Amino acid sequence: MATDHFQDETEGVADGGWQAELAEAVRSASELCRLAGLPDQKPGPAAGWPVLVPRSYLSRIAPGDPDDPLLLQVLPRPEELETPEGFSSDPLGETAASPVSGMLWKYQGRSLIVATGTCGVHCRFCFRRHFPLPASPPRLSVIEPALERVGRERSIHEIILSGGDPLTLDDDCLAELIGRAAEMLHVRRLRIHTRMPVAIPGRVGPRLVELLRATRLTVIVVVHVNHPAEIDPAVEAALARLVDAGIPVLSQSVLLRGVNDNADTLAELFEWLVDLRVVPYYLHQLDRVSGTAHFEVPEARGRRLIEELRGRLPGYAVPRYVREVPGASSKVSLE
Ligand SMILES: *Cc1c(COP(=O)(O)O)cnc(C)c1O
Ligand code: SF4
Repeated sequence: MATDHFQDETEGVADGGWQAELAEAVRSASELCRLAGLPDQKPGPAAGWPVLVPRSYLSRIAPGDPDDPLLLQVLPRPEELETPEGFSSDPLGETAASPVSGMLWKYQGRSLIVATGTCGVHCRFCFRRHFPLPASPPRLSVIEPALERVGRERSIHEIILSGGDPLTLDDDCLAELIGRAAEMLHVRRLRIHTRMPVAIPGRVGPRLVELLRATRLTVIVVVHVNHPAEIDPAVEAALARLVDAGIPVLSQSVLLRGVNDNADTLAELFEWLVDLRVVPYYLHQLDRVSGTAHFEVPEARGRRLIEELRGRLPGYAVPRYVREVPGASSKVSLE
């Protein structure tokens, strides 16, 4: 029965349970191999970007498969030590775009605030792997200068919370942050870029949903999801809680070799997201960050994949294929 089903899924996601799950996440590559049923696998060294995999993400990894598309995203591989030509630690020149700490300001009318360095999962391909910001305690004082700057800058209509993952901030901290943003009358929208509904779906609890629903600001949530196997009933329920509250939910994915670089996987992912009332927004070309070269898919292949998807899916189910270019004030289309 539908009602029983719903109760099952919200059980154990009482507000706060997610923090225990984050605290108990797997933080060792050998432990991860053991739990993934690959005790003899030789992981690569974490190379300055520690392993972090919460149990619920782990539960979606198929045991005994070294090429599992979720495992590939979180287990360090020996190839991370390779840095081919064209890859570097700051390919986006982000250090240059930061007028005050905790803030990036390269997009017109939008201000990106990095409120925490903590994530709910560590993705091996992440461009932040070279900025492992301190796992800051949930305090706003860290981004006070950024908030003051946005408060004075009337051209900013949208605050984008990025990270790290802003949903690793607790509800009290988010409530304060949203309150502060809502006091700035020129700010109309609050966008939250997060992987938490996928990493630890229990994060999307009733209080969070109410916080996002009740503010004067238009809240938009952009979830990061790369593979259909990342979506289990708990993730579906988390996304449904957001959408049911009237919050537009978009998705972004990174095109990753060996993970999702084929038309069938991408078609299944995007169509499923649409069924969940999530709009596929961006498919990102990998940023050329050192340690991630083994994930790169050539752009020509990405274009062919998108072309094939256009033939197979409704227009609204095909995201924009884009890449980030240093100094550019918006994403660059690759189509
Ligand atoms: C591209 C990007 C933005 C800007 O997003 P738009 O949807 O193009 O406005 C903000 N934050 C991050 C991390 C991005 O990659
Ligand atoms: S959750 Fe996002 S910011 Fe965090 S490691 Fe993964 S891709 Fe990077």
